[in-house]
Amino acid sequence: VKEEGRNGLRFYHDSMQEAVRERVAIEQGLREALVHERFRLHLQPQADATGRIVGAEVLLRWLRDDGQLVAPGVFIDIAEETGLIVPIGRWVLRQACELLARWDSMPRAGTPQSPLALSVNVSSRQFRQPDFVDDVLAIVRASGADPRRLVLEVTESVFLGDLDDSARRLQALRAHGIQISLDDFGTGYSSLSYLRSLQVDEVKIDQSFVRSMLHDRGSDAIVRAVIALSNTLGLRTVAEGVETPQQRDYLLEQGCRVLQGYLIGRPTPCEQWASALPPPASG
Ligand code: C2E
Ligand code: CA
Ligand code: CA
Ligand code: CA
Repeated sequence: VKEEGRNGLRFYHDSMQEAVRERVAIEQGLREALVHERFRLHLQPQADATGRIVGAEVLLRWLRDDGQLVAPGVFIDIAEETGLIVPIGRWVLRQACELLARWDSMPRAGTPQSPLALSVNVSSRQFRQPDFVDDVLAIVRASGADPRRLVLEVTESVFLGDLDDSARRLQALRAHGIQISLDDFGTGYSSLSYLRSLQVDEVKIDQSFVRSMLHDRGSDAIVRAVIALSNTLGLRTVAEGVETPQQRDYLLEQGCRVLQGYLIGRPTPCEQWASALPPPASG
């Protein structure tokens, strides 16, 4: 028994060391990726009730030296903790704004199509930087992008700190035409009553609710309440993680305005999005 215990401890110790090594390697990798621009943007389309693509969410990928494309789940927490999310987030925003500006300057073939909006994720740590608002405005201005087509996705954790200060920041951004989306709604700390006082244009229903709403009464109740209240308050609702026609139809029936998920389209490299149109579906 004693031997086993010692082995167990050793195993625990080794795996801890392994985890620490891995974190250090990721942090180092992210620093190098920043310097050498080894990040890539994928875009995932968003459709309105008629199926028309009205926007896209910008999703970050890290292209490792070995050619592997790494999803943010692996590195975003480490980027947050080390503060690297601030320069990384600034890079993402700059790329997204340049994309918007480039799309605007491109002649469109065929029928005129209204320009897409791009939604960019903003981490709370980034949002709380003292110069965040000025930084965003400077990036938008330098790129020549139309601020009305930029959506910043923030999560409820943004409101954990100084609520008045957060509201002022959102207000300042919105005064310049930038739209604010409340991401992952329902998974955090806020209550429905928040929606009234917050400076947001859009509410994103988290995919965990969408996944379970058709067989879980609790999730269904939340989805319907969020859509109903948002519509009453004049906020746009976006459902994420829509994977089946049944989910799409139900959400539209409830009055959800915009859909995002594998059913509409997977995230694809932004280079494939010529003249603001998603690449033709493959496979
Ligand atoms: P999120 O903002 O909630 O983004 C939605 C995630 O759901 C994306 O994962 C997307 O690929 C995935 N998804 C979309 N449709 C479906 C679907 O139908 N089914 C399923 N199962 N998943 C779907 P991804 O790209 O791995 O990003 C994960 C998270 O990383 C994002 O969650 C966001 O919180 C964060 N993130 C991504 N890019 C950035 C960024 O540029 N900055 C910051 N701060 N965070 C980012
Ligand atoms: Ca998001
Ligand atoms: Ca989300
Ligand atoms: Ca999420």
